[in-house]
Amino acid sequence: MVVTHNFQDLFEASSKTTVLSLPIVKENPLKIEFQKCDENETLYESRAPPLPFASSNVFHADISDWRRLTAVNNDCKAVYEVTFDVTGSTFNYKPGDTIGVIPQNSTADVEQILDHLNLKSQADDQYTLIVDKTLKGAKIPVHVPVKSTLRHVFQYCLDLRSVIKKLFLLALSRHTKDDNERKVLEYVCSKEGATVYTTHILNKNLCVLDLFSIFKTCKPPAEVLLANLPRLLPRPYSIVNSQIKDPNTLKICFSVMDIGNNRKGLTTGWLEEVISSSNVDLESRIKSLSISNGGKESCDSKIPIYIRKNMSGFLMPKDLAFPMIFIGPGTGVSPYIGFLQERECLKRKNPELNLGEAWLFFGCRDPKLDFIYEQELKNFIENGILKKMSTAFSRVDGCETKYIQDALTQNGEELTKLIKDGASIFICGDLKNMASQVKDVLVQCLIKYDGKTKEEAEKYIFEMQKGDKYFVDTWS
Ligand code: NAP
Repeated sequence: MVVTHNFQDLFEASSKTTVLSLPIVKENPLKIEFQKCDENETLYESRAPPLPFASSNVFHADISDWRRLTAVNNDCKAVYEVTFDVTGSTFNYKPGDTIGVIPQNSTADVEQILDHLNLKSQADDQYTLIVDKTLKGAKIPVHVPVKSTLRHVFQYCLDLRSVIKKLFLLALSRHTKDDNERKVLEYVCSKEGATVYTTHILNKNLCVLDLFSIFKTCKPPAEVLLANLPRLLPRPYSIVNSQIKDPNTLKICFSVMDIGNNRKGLTTGWLEEVISSSNVDLESRIKSLSISNGGKESCDSKIPIYIRKNMSGFLMPKDLAFPMIFIGPGTGVSPYIGFLQERECLKRKNPELNLGEAWLFFGCRDPKLDFIYEQELKNFIENGILKKMSTAFSRVDGCETKYIQDALTQNGEELTKLIKDGASIFICGDLKNMASQVKDVLVQCLIKYDGKTKEEAEKYIFEMQKGDKYFVDTWS
């Protein structure tokens, strides 16, 4: 991996600044002792840290199938659907629920750390952590096992890709031999170097792996990493399918994130690696797919997953007679596939069931590239489960509706009528911009077509939220 950040300017800046205001770095209370054991074990001081929002046990699932949902083209992201075989699990889930995928760091990243710190020969020896209780506030971080191996800890417990905090930088500077390198590290975490910390570390998502590539003489003992690196946390994904339809399978879809520094998102990159190393090679598989169902080869690795508590209440309403408005650009459409499958199953079971109309607003760049689940959605329209689908294409020249907000505005009058008729609104996707912009459009619709003032329209949406008629599942 090549790190291209230019720290050259900092060598000059740091040499000019003679007095630095530095945070106080506490003495590291952790000490590692290695033993050679026949069988290694991983033990925590009290117990393994709980999984965030878990509502089930962890199940190690096989990937029974996968497919690429977008075209292989630089103008769109790679989006995959992965099917887990959950036969034998006690999973119980509803459309709108999410799973946590418990990730692991890549072998390459782990090897880089072990190599840089000259720890390869001890990586698989059992260690015991001793904590110096005489130091104030001394404790072992809850996510760090008291007994384990360094390879295990670096692979499964510590977030090697997290952006380096100032105190960690300062602790690292204490183990940097070269004077210039040490001065730069001190400068970056000093008060005087506050802007530089933002421009060179925060804005560039610099992690310990990058740092070791740049600062070659920074070689801290493993204890410094164990004391400072945060926990490697599970990543949430929406469940795509309905459990009523497929009781033994669970599907998720995800776009492979490019997080800069030549890196892919940790979990999405790992899942992509797992599926691409399955029996069938990726290229031939993609060629044979063209946005259709793939074969049934399973991958070798099991993926640890669990069901998460549905904290946002993003679930099908109890009374299905009211209309439902689904808003979700990109992978934000994924939970709605489960909603629609569930409606289909319920209707099949009971043809007399009074189902309110369902209307989907979907957006992507170009229908030829990334209209994910297009065929499934068209099938739902054909069989009457989805009454309408309004689309927006952001990279198609001359398209009247660029973003879903435009499609909502275009259909404002009809939407307002449905809202007044008691429709539930579901919004799924990007937290920062899309969700608030959609809300602004809905407020404008209520002003224009229902004669409300801005305050009244905003209050109306607020009341919808309180009354379980307006659900937002946003992802940062
Ligand atoms: P994406 O491909 O980045 O975007 C989909 C479409 O939305 C593109 O046409 C994009 O246009 C457009 N868009 C960009 N900014 C917008 C805005 N402010 N308002 C409306 N549309 C906008 O989507 P994605 O990568 O799939 O991500 C969608 C979001 O859903 C993410 O926040 C993701 O985390 C979240 N999500 C993920 C899951 C999951 O389980 N993986 C589930 C639910 C939701 P341009 O690119 O041309 O600007």
